[in-house]
Amino acid sequence: MKDKKLTRKSFFTISAVSAAVVGLGVFFGIGNNEKKKTSKAADITPKAPKRSGKSVRESARSVPVLTETDVLVVGGGPSGLSAALSAAREGVDVILLERYGFFGGVITQANIGTTSWYRYKDTIDAGGMCREFETKAKSMGASIDPFKAMRKIPFVTGILEDEGLIVDGEPTYEMLDSELFKHVADAMLIESGAVPVLHCLAVGAIMEGNRIKGVITESKSGRQAILAKRVIDATGDADIASHAGAPFRKSPKDKLMEVTTNFSCTNIGYWPFMFDSLTNTKKMKDYGLQTSGKEDEMASTVMATPFEKGKKAGILEKDWDIVGWWSGLTEDGDILSMDAVHMHGIDPTNVLDLTRAEIEGRRRSLLSMQALREFQPGFADAKLRNFSTSLGARESRKIKGAYNITEKDVKNQARFDDSIGVCPEFIDGYGQLYIPTTGRYFQVPYGIILPQKVENLLVAGRCVAGDRISHAATRQMVCCMVTGQGAGVAAATSVKERRSTRNININSVQKHLKNQGVRIS
Ligand SMILES: Cc1cc2nc3c(=O)[nH]c(=O)nc-3n(C[C@H](O)[C@H](O)[C@H](O)COP(=O)(O)OP(=O)(O)OC[C@H]3O[C@@H](n4cnc5c(N)ncnc54)[C@H](O)[C@@H]3O)c2cc1C
Repeated sequence: MKDKKLTRKSFFTISAVSAAVVGLGVFFGIGNNEKKKTSKAADITPKAPKRSGKSVRESARSVPVLTETDVLVVGGGPSGLSAALSAAREGVDVILLERYGFFGGVITQANIGTTSWYRYKDTIDAGGMCREFETKAKSMGASIDPFKAMRKIPFVTGILEDEGLIVDGEPTYEMLDSELFKHVADAMLIESGAVPVLHCLAVGAIMEGNRIKGVITESKSGRQAILAKRVIDATGDADIASHAGAPFRKSPKDKLMEVTTNFSCTNIGYWPFMFDSLTNTKKMKDYGLQTSGKEDEMASTVMATPFEKGKKAGILEKDWDIVGWWSGLTEDGDILSMDAVHMHGIDPTNVLDLTRAEIEGRRRSLLSMQALREFQPGFADAKLRNFSTSLGARESRKIKGAYNITEKDVKNQARFDDSIGVCPEFIDGYGQLYIPTTGRYFQVPYGIILPQKVENLLVAGRCVAGDRISHAATRQMVCCMVTGQGAGVAAATSVKERRSTRNININSVQKHLKNQGVRIS
């Protein structure tokens, strides 16, 4: 018999639980979901600017150099933050550059605090920065026990313990409070000695032959340069690698993973919502996901029914991809992350696609809220609390690396001599879902963060080198932190040992990573 497992996105439920709570439904008046008049929001598709085939020539000009550093990290998401912290801890000068006014990337821009929802009792995890973010956030009151609200129901706690999601009374993972994490990231960075530069977009690479020497930036201070001995591209989109002329691949728009407008909601009736979740939760196999088999019977916090009803009622368009993976339910009746409004055919490196998707995503989110109010028990008086600050992107450019990791590697516990860390076998994307409930894991090779053709540039995060299905593993935040920490330590080591990033002493990098608490083998 297959294991029945609980996931965050997973959380609880199984038939025994459902049966036990049926009686509660009567008590809390569920089923009296009064139908309100449905209305459809106006179509507000924005006008696209008229295309022009012209080009203009920029005149050559001198650009002031803002600063010089040993290691420059561009992009302050999970990978960039990990890179900057780990490099600074090796005693070199580090700058972390970010286009928005706060660090955290998808965590803080798109309300995604579930960095470790895959972690079960038997999961072999990466250690290092991944754990540190949670520990630090917890110590600063900036994390959420993902099961706190559910523990009000004792037999649910029992199930969570049986399933290995609560061990010795503690959850196996902490969800980051995505708003407070902005402050946690500031604190960690300042403690490490790395220097922050916010509100600053990197728009070009400064090259000497095939060697990167720094980046050109644009900000309210105008056009400036930052010079660096080593540069780490942690932009998610491989912006710097592309400016530097490093080879990359990008799937056609219709093959790229979806982008999402996340939102949070408030004023939810806790008990009616819990009752419905406990009795109507579907299993992974109900969504037609390809799994390793053991995931089929796992229950999930996927929310689909109210959106299906919303489509039938004409609130939502039939062809919209609206399926909600909710997380961060609080006892006060908030859901901190509703990962529901997905849009396809959007290239995250195309400014007009981004514009269209931001506007359309907000419209669809409000209509989704309307469907939730009408068809989701517990949501009758719910309100939208915030839209994600920015659209969440899952895939764009992927560099071509010294090594390109493969589907075979991530599904077959690959081992590499140049390992910079390990990742649990956690694959989520392209209709596939593998959750690392056992101790299976793969090693992450240095080769995937080392771009072809450009010297002294490293790349971390979701744009590392690999084939399509491996991206469903390397895009996960745990892997982004592993490649970030690996890049940070490698860049610092290469500066200190005066070796280029291509001729790095990998044994030395591995030794320093181990000292930072990273599991290498
Ligand atoms: C809606 C959604 C839900 C997800 N859910 C999960 C989940 O539950 N668990 C999980 O593990 N993963 C999840 N993922 C995937 C994961 O969040 C991302 O793959 C991961 O955050 C990528 O990390 P990164 O550091 O590479 O990039 P990002 O997190 O995108 O960070 C890149 C940073 O670089 C900055 N930047 C970009 N370009 C420039 C530039 N030119 N100059 C200066 N700064 C720049 C950006 O502003 C950003 O801060 C989700 C993704 C999305 C979109």
